[in-house]
Amino acid sequence: MHASTKQNSRRTWLKAATGVALAAPLVFFTRQSLAAKNDTMRTALKYQDKPEGAKQCSGCAQFVPGKTAKDLGGCKAFPGDTEIAPTGYCLAWVELKK
Ligand code: SF4
Repeated sequence: MHASTKQNSRRTWLKAATGVALAAPLVFFTRQSLAAKNDTMRTALKYQDKPEGAKQCSGCAQFVPGKTAKDLGGCKAFPGDTEIAPTGYCLAWVELKK
């Protein structure tokens, strides 16, 4: 490989690596700000990640579904919480009328 070509490819690699290094924390912080748990309400209403018999969040009137049926969603009773499992459950469960 010619010396200047080698230098150019090294410079290109460094630029790419710097871009990744700068973008990584951005992705991390963006995810952090989007994903949130309302621990106060979770504790108060005894939220759990698994169903209680046939009762689960996806069948609850308070559930705000995520992008797909399996994605985490929200709950009208848990302000700001974006990590409610469709298969979760809490004491505020109300049957979803269809
Ligand atoms: Fe799930 Fe409870 Fe919210 Fe209903 S009220 S969606 S059971 S967390």
